Amino acid sequence: MSGTLLVANGTVFGGALGQDDDRPVVIADGAVAWEDARIVAVGRQAEVRRGYPGARVLDARGGLILPGLVNLHHHFYSALARGLDPGTSLADFGQVLDRLWWRLDRALDAETIRVSAELALADCIRAGCTTVFDHHASPNAIPGSLDIIAEAADACSLSAVLCYEVTDRNGPAGAAAGLAENLRFIDATRGHRRIRGTLGLHASFTLRDETLAEAARRRPAEAGCHIHVAEDPLDVRYSQEQFGAGPVQRLQAHGLLDARSLLAHGIHLERAEYETIAAHDAVLIHNPESNANNGVGVLDVAGAADAGCTVGLGTDGMSGSILRALRLGVLMQRAARRDPGVGFEEIRRLLATNARVARRFFDEPQLGELTPGAPADVIVVDAPPPTPLETGNAVGHLLYGAADAPVRHTVARGRILLEDFRHVAVDLEALAARARRRAGPLWERFHALRWGTRFLGS
Ligand SMILES: [Zn+2]
Repeated sequence: MSGTLLVANGTVFGGALGQDDDRPVVIADGAVAWEDARIVAVGRQAEVRRGYPGARVLDARGGLILPGLVNLHHHFYSALARGLDPGTSLADFGQVLDRLWWRLDRALDAETIRVSAELALADCIRAGCTTVFDHHASPNAIPGSLDIIAEAADACSLSAVLCYEVTDRNGPAGAAAGLAENLRFIDATRGHRRIRGTLGLHASFTLRDETLAEAARRRPAEAGCHIHVAEDPLDVRYSQEQFGAGPVQRLQAHGLLDARSLLAHGIHLERAEYETIAAHDAVLIHNPESNANNGVGVLDVAGAADAGCTVGLGTDGMSGSILRALRLGVLMQRAARRDPGVGFEEIRRLLATNARVARRFFDEPQLGELTPGAPADVIVVDAPPPTPLETGNAVGHLLYGAADAPVRHTVARGRILLEDFRHVAVDLEALAARARRRAGPLWERFHALRWGTRFLGS
């Protein structure tokens, strides 16, 4: 049949990276077929091939055939920071923001936003991530910035939930412009198949009560919000000092906790605060690589889950690889607790949670699984199993095999983006050359900017 594609000759993780109550259903010697943007068959390759004799076949070469992965927290705008020397010390979390990220984001313009997004998306494709939640900031280029990112995501058929971080650190006009950009974009993308907007908020310690109230009042009920919470003790301490309440309590007071609230980090919280998050069915997003990089602590994933929290996984601008983040997540739990038995079960659930949370934003009840009718987001990881692989030990093969293996093929909504390790939709060499041309002037603007930003503006 013309128009049908299939990936065959691999081990299919059918059904269920996305199901919270089950493990992946493993199909050895399997195949997945799709037509247009939807999966039409999953099973043993002999049967699937028989059903679609004219289909074009992508060879998995014995690798793992997985649903496209979901990243719940990313910052595309950080892509041009690679190798950037801030020229000053970064002694604590406040300085990391003030002296690095808040200078970089102020130096961004339309073209650097665009090329950063294209670079980050190319990295997502290479890592098998087909649905990504981005948190954007460009204080001197706010209006239309989310459109630029959306165009880049749309051009490569990836699914994206985008937002602009509202903050008071650049004064009232900056906060108002950020909120307007979110609201405009949420409205503009309503009904889009693969792109959605949500309300971006930076973090409690850079948001005045008036700004939170205004954002909560004007936010469409279905939009949700995406915010950093208790990434460092600074957020908790400063919120208490300035507003007499911790970050979770403030979000709750403003009616900003619900099933589409995405709270990145949540490291420095009390059990009662995890219970509050759980009571509203809000989502905590674990970002182990970023937390290690910034030296801000380790989320107690088991403790948060025990308090009832839904915990998902993000990369927070560090990379596009959610499988690598998954592996580091387990290792960090064990290192922090000095316990080799902790973390596996909790971390195993993070992949499932990511798909389940993504479904809350898209009208796709099968997103993140390989079943007929699901969106054709399919990847092949080049990790042919060297030991028995079955439903019960599938996650072990992901953590100790797939997490370090390259992705061979990435297919998003039926379109092949990566084939035999090569980008098909992106000319990576040309993109890198274009990025280097933009990075020089961006870095010059960065170095010309002073630091010393006040968290709540003037
Ligand atoms: Zn972040």
